[in-house]
Order: sequence, then structure tokens, then C-alpha cells
Amino acid sequence: MRIDLHTHTRASDGTQSPSELVHAAVAAGLDVLGLTDHDTTDGWAEASTAAAEVGLTLVRGIEISTRHLGRGAHLLAYLPDPTYAPLDEELDRILDGRSSRVPAILDKLHELDIPITAGDVRRASVGTAATGRPHVADALVTLGVVGHRDEAFRRFLNPGMPAYVDRYAASLVEVLRLVGEAGGVPVLAHPWGRNGPSGMTEENLDELAGLGLAGLEVDHQDHSPEDRAALRDIAGNLGLVVTGSSDHHGAGKVDHELGCNTTAPEEYDRLMELAATSARATGSAAEPPSVPPAPSS
Ligand code: AMP
Ligand code: ZN
Ligand code: FE
Ligand code: FE
Repeated sequence: MRIDLHTHTRASDGTQSPSELVHAAVAAGLDVLGLTDHDTTDGWAEASTAAAEVGLTLVRGIEISTRHLGRGAHLLAYLPDPTYAPLDEELDRILDGRSSRVPAILDKLHELDIPITAGDVRRASVGTAATGRPHVADALVTLGVVGHRDEAFRRFLNPGMPAYVDRYAASLVEVLRLVGEAGGVPVLAHPWGRNGPSGMTEENLDELAGLGLAGLEVDHQDHSPEDRAALRDIAGNLGLVVTGSSDHHGAGKVDHELGCNTTAPEEYDRLMELAATSARATGSAAEPPSVPPAPSS
């Protein structure tokens, strides 16, 4: 069983359509795929149809942009009820915050004499519900200002760089609650990201576990081998599920190929049990993962 629980499509800032992603997952030898676009469920329907056609198990998720202790934190919400209004409204606020700062980013780029227009960004955002910095980056690539997305972030768009603009971020504690109320199960994405252990401490994570956090994404390309080992120990101490995933963005992120990190089947089973319990407890209308039909004999 090969299980990859964190991927993106064009519905946010990946470069593949949901059905292209599903076919790429099969080609990569995956049995279970988590689709977790940033702050949107727009890719779910197309991916579910494609997954049923090819016999791939699809776990519908969202990677929610939040803030905790003054820093950005990404929360993976698996199998929440997408019709639960308080969660849906919070996602709308996040999406609005992301797209509404684009004009301010363009103003800053203009101050640097970079002639990028709103139309350039619009053309780079076709099909996305989550227009933001990645699409500004893609427009800068098309204009020949930078060679690739990563260079745009490093030179202009990251915090501290000249075209960075802050945006609305939901409270992690609040979103943990909303995901639970929606019958979903929350896992912290790349907890130490590129900051290493200076991010969240075991004590911080223990507190979040008490607020409903169910798992940690331990195996992620942003974590060094040492960080992975330390996070695995913390997850063990706190009884949290351990996941591993690619955070694949198609051609939008290098070194994040499908299946480059995977989740152990036992950990996946624990996660799905917690999701079933959460859905039952809330009377959630969310469906279980789409399970492929048994092969006909
Ligand atoms: P925004 O939603 O506008 O804040 O953009 C954040 C998203 O941009 C992140 O969730 C990443 O998927 C993507 N991103 C951040 N840094 C980079 C980078 N260096 N290269 C490519 N994509 C990035
Ligand atoms: Zn992304
Ligand atoms: Fe993330
Ligand atoms: Fe991601």
C-alpha cells in the first residue's frame, strides 16, 4: 500500500487538473491519494470521479492557512463536511484575504519598476479558487523577470522581501475547533517547515493535541532527517498519528514528486478511524474516502 496524503491541483496552486493529478498518482504507484488544496474543496468533485474510474482511493482534504503563536501554520483537514457553514465561511475569509492583497503586491513590484499587470496574474490563475503569491510568481516567470516560481518567492514574495504583503490568517485554535465540528480530522502539515525546531515545541503540540489535533506530518521534504526523528518521537509521546506525504504541486514545486514520502498503512488506518469517529460524533454529512469497487472475478 502506497499512501500519499498531501497534494495540490490547479484548484489552488498546483499545475495539474484534479483528474491529471489522479492519473499521475496511479502512474506513481499510489493506492491512496489525499487531495489537499489550499483553503478550497473545488477540486474534490472532479478528483472523486476520476479516482472512481481508475480505482484509486481518494481522501478529500483541505490544507488550511492559519496562524499560531505569531507564525503561519498549515492545517490538513481530512474528510470534513464541506457544507458545514462556519468552516466554509472561514475558508472564504482566507481566500478573500489571499486574493485581496494581490493589488498591493503589484504596487510594490511597480515600485521596483517591474511592469506586471493584474491581467498577467489573472492569466496565471485560470481555474484556481485561491489566487495568491504562487500565481504572481507564475506571472513573473511568464514575463521573464525570474526563471521559476521559487526564485520569485526568494527574491520578491517571501516575508522580508520587497514585494511581501501580509494577509488575513485564521486562528489555528479556532480552525481546529471548526474542523472537529465539521466531522473532519486535523493533522498539522510540516510542523517545523523550513524553520526547524524553533517552530512549535512539544509543549505547544501537546496543547494542540488537547484541542483536537490528531496527527503530525512528520515525513515532509521541508524536514531534515534529524527533525523527522525528533517529530516522530514527539508524536509517539503525545499519541498523535504520524503521516508522510509529498506536498506535490505538479511542476509548481521542485523535489516534491508524488510518493516521495508516504504514510504507513497502520497510521492511515488510525486516521480513518478517527475520521469515522469524528463524523459519527457530529452527525456529519461527509462521506468516507471513495473506495474503489472490488475487482470483479
Ligand atoms: P499565499 O497563499 O499567497 O500566501 O501563498 C502561499 C503558498 O505559496 C504556499 O502555501 C506554497 O504552496 C507556495 N509557496 C511558498 N513558497 C514557495 C516557494 N519558495 N516556491 C514555490 N511555492 C511556494
Ligand atoms: Zn501550495
Ligand atoms: Fe503547506
Ligand atoms: Fe501543501
